[in-house]
Amino acid sequence: MILEVGVGASLALVVVLAWQGVNIAPFIFLAVMLGLLYYFTTVRNGGKKEFTVVEANKSSGLVDFEQIGGQYTAKKELLEALDFIRYPERIAKMGIRPLKGILLVGPPGTGKTLLAKAAAAYTDSVFLTAGGSEFIELYAGVGAQRVRDIFSKARSLALKEKKSSAIIFIDEIEILGGKRGTHTSHHEYDQTLNQLLVEMDGLSVDDRVRVLLIGATNRADLLDKALLRPGRFDRVVQVDLPDFEARQEILRLHVGNKPLDYDVDLEKLARETFGFSGAHLESVANEAAILAMRDNKERISQHHFTEAIDKVMMGEKMERKPDKEELWRVAVHEGGHALASELQRPGSVANITTTPRGKALGYMRQRPQKDSYLYTQEYLEEQIAIMVAGAVAEELVLGNRSTGAANDFAQAVEVAKRIIASGMSSLGVVSLEDLPGSLMHKEIQQIIAEQEAAVKDLLTPYSALLMELAEILVQAEKVSGDFLRRRLAEEKAANGIKSA
Ligand code: ATP
Repeated sequence: MILEVGVGASLALVVVLAWQGVNIAPFIFLAVMLGLLYYFTTVRNGGKKEFTVVEANKSSGLVDFEQIGGQYTAKKELLEALDFIRYPERIAKMGIRPLKGILLVGPPGTGKTLLAKAAAAYTDSVFLTAGGSEFIELYAGVGAQRVRDIFSKARSLALKEKKSSAIIFIDEIEILGGKRGTHTSHHEYDQTLNQLLVEMDGLSVDDRVRVLLIGATNRADLLDKALLRPGRFDRVVQVDLPDFEARQEILRLHVGNKPLDYDVDLEKLARETFGFSGAHLESVANEAAILAMRDNKERISQHHFTEAIDKVMMGEKMERKPDKEELWRVAVHEGGHALASELQRPGSVANITTTPRGKALGYMRQRPQKDSYLYTQEYLEEQIAIMVAGAVAEELVLGNRSTGAANDFAQAVEVAKRIIASGMSSLGVVSLEDLPGSLMHKEIQQIIAEQEAAVKDLLTPYSALLMELAEILVQAEKVSGDFLRRRLAEEKAANGIKSA
């Protein structure tokens, strides 16, 4: 604003001088020089960056710890650390140096930003947030200046708001705090990081405003060691993907403001969403509400949630429909995956569909019985069998395979590599780096071929059921896991096979 008024007034002055016959050439020269200076120092650097400031109360964007589902360990560690800010007298009395930084490490969407906001609400601090990339510019010194700016802004803002503490949250801190000397334009990167270290070292318990830096990253391995040494990021808090209990809790939090039908079973939904982050779960709740609204329903039903899971996992429904022949092949393929899954792991199929979503023409969604973090050889082999079962089913029913199985095989190769890397293949324990590529390739082929043969034996007696499933899929687009289990039990009873 001041700039605009200044430019306007100068322009008016120059016009008046020109009118009075004064030579204005030197003024124009000066104006051009000033303009160029402004352009190179400010505009080309993306303008003067303003960091986002969130006010320290819940109605204006902060959350409290109760609004964060799961993350029990992270919350506990964070709360302990924050008491250093809440009770500074106790800390000073004991001669404890102030806590300067907390690093939150974990995959995207697990609630790191939420935790930082909750930390600000808990300590009644002003909260400033910025992304690591906002500090990095082409021009030497700009990043360092921005680091100085955010720390001084945190202090001045806290004083203005009469608060005694400020929290600065820097997301993707690995961009600004990466190992020194590894970047091509490393001088600028190094200067920026050095400035961050200087600012952190300058924080003291006697300051009128206690500043705490919270960094978030999912690549702690990229960070410069200097940042991680004691006295800087003193606490490293792991923020993991939510487990079953936590997924239930997060879902409950996100459906709190939504009208639910009586059939909604959050436990079942939590079971079906293994591997989802908090952000995925929030999206499931939101998408389910959108689907219910599109259906003109007053309440959200379980089937809206299951469809929302499919959408979040696989992407939006595609308009493009395969022709009759292709649709039959897709139905056989997906039926094969589902039968193999259910026969090996009863209760594992959530649903099968031939609705094209994202890049997939159809898919079978599994429902893990429990959250697993360790896998046995048998489990991984079963997984390969389920992955190749689509191609095997196509061969059984249609007499040949198609390119539709390419992605399945790519996944099967990854699982086979995992078996080899864990020393569970016929090669025994191997050093992956020293293993010749041809040997690795041969072993992968063998592992997958064995499972192809096994799954062919498994599916052959159920060919009639496979065809039936495919026919229903062609008609109805979707078959539930419960229906498949019922039909499989009937089939087994008719053939005198005991169900598991
Ligand atoms: P990124 O690393 O991508 O920046 P993040 O870990 O900082 O992600 P957030 O921004 O905190 O993740 O989370 C995104 C959204 O996901 C939140 O606004 C919230 O709706 C939801 N969410 C994530 N984790 C949780 C959780 N534990 N409880 C409730 N909601 C969550």
